[in-house]
This record gives sequence, structure tokens and C-alpha cells, in this order.
Amino acid sequence: MRKPIIAGNWKMNGTIASGFILIEAFNSVLQDMELSCDVVVCPPFTAIERAVALTRDTAIEVGAQTMDYHDAGAFTGEISPLMLTEIGVNYVIIGHSERREYYGEIDETVNAKIKSAFHHNLTPIVCVGESLEQRESGHTLDWITSQLKGALVDVPKEQVSQLIIAYEPIWAIGTGKTATADQAEEVCKEIRDYIRSLYDDETADAVRIQYGGSVKSENAREILGEPNIDGALVGGASLVVDEFIDIIKAAN
Ligand code: 13P
Repeated sequence: MRKPIIAGNWKMNGTIASGFILIEAFNSVLQDMELSCDVVVCPPFTAIERAVALTRDTAIEVGAQTMDYHDAGAFTGEISPLMLTEIGVNYVIIGHSERREYYGEIDETVNAKIKSAFHHNLTPIVCVGESLEQRESGHTLDWITSQLKGALVDVPKEQVSQLIIAYEPIWAIGTGKTATADQAEEVCKEIRDYIRSLYDDETADAVRIQYGGSVKSENAREILGEPNIDGALVGGASLVVDEFIDIIKAAN
């Protein structure tokens, strides 16, 4: 039985102060809830340390939105896995479509980052997803499996079973256009079957697969009810207290 995981990707939004207010509000609701899902928030780098402090004795864990795969060195502007673990981060989003589109992230760097994350005991949330053009031309499943193939080169099954894969169709991110539950389930099932073909049943049944792309309170329950969808990676709605809480409740 896979434990659902709801993660909020705050992207480049807010301040340390607004992050403080959000987390305090989440804490005040979640402390009275019996949580049966994992909850992760991924603030911008500057707010991470504060977020870790505020969530210390709570059910909320903290992730980063990206990282470099080197431990240290002349990589101006980058943050290393050692820097993340030093401040108490547990998760890291890798290969988000915005990183791929604007910052040159490719399957090879995604692969290097997955290995580096595991080496440092960070759980990677690895994003894959197709463009509207790819969907309309019938190339969705080919594209997703090719992204996964590149991401998982030489990643052992013990690590894959700990991995979180986030299926985020690019055309559904920040657009208000959500994939239907059927569309999301079709791809998430394909992802699981592909992991099965690369590894084995045990690994495929363990890996957690999230859907992301305009998830909100009104569509969360239907999407999270699908058998191969084990959670959500939430952008905009993770910055709105009632929305994020309702999504957590839908997974719980
Ligand atoms: P939205 O929920 O704002 O569409 O963003 C999804 C996303 O990119 C999460 O990583």
C-alpha cells in the first residue's frame, strides 16, 4: 500500500515572512488531523531554513525546488545537496518543466541529480510531462517513457522504489487546464508499467507517482481517487491555505 504524498511547489513566490504565515496556518489545521499522507512544502531557497524550523515537530517536511548535482565547487549561483541536508531538507524536486524550459535542464542532468540526491539521503521528486503539441500529435507516452529512460540510467531498483515521480503535463501547469482524471491515470499507469518493464513488480508497486498541473480543491478528489495516482505536486493552490488543506484532505 503506497502512502499518498502531497507536495506544494511554491516556485518563485512570496517572502520569508509570507512563507512563515502560510506554514503557521498549515500547522494549525494539520496538528488536529490524523494524517495518513505525507505533506511536503518546497519554498524558495531563502525561505527554506525558516520553513524547516517552523515544521520541526510537525507532520510537514521540507523540500527544495532544484539543486546542483556537485557537492561543491565553482558553480556560481547553485545550491548543492550538502547545503540542503545541512539545513534539514528531505526532498528535492528534479527536472521540473520550468527548469527544463528556462534553465537548460536535460535528462542527463536529471539523472546526475537523482543519483546525487540519493547519495545525500534526499528523496527526489522527478518531474516528467509532455507539451500540448506532443499530446495532440499522439506522442505523449513515447515522450514520457523516453524522459524516464534518460532519468533512470544506472539508478538501482532499491532507489527507484523510494523515488517520487511527478507527471506534470506542461499544458496543464498554471493554465487552469487540468488533465482529466482519466488522462492523468492513463499516463501514471504507463509510468508504472514502464518501471515494471525496467525493474520488477516490487519496484513498480512501490514507486509513488504524483499528478501535477492545476490541481485544486475542486478536482483533487477525483484525480487522487485513481489507482495509479499516489499524490499531487501542487503549484498555485499550495499558496492558498484552504486550497492546500483541502487537497491534503482529499488524499487523506
Ligand atoms: P500549478 O498547480 O500552478 O498548475 O503548477 C503545477 C506545478 O508546476 C507544480 O510543480
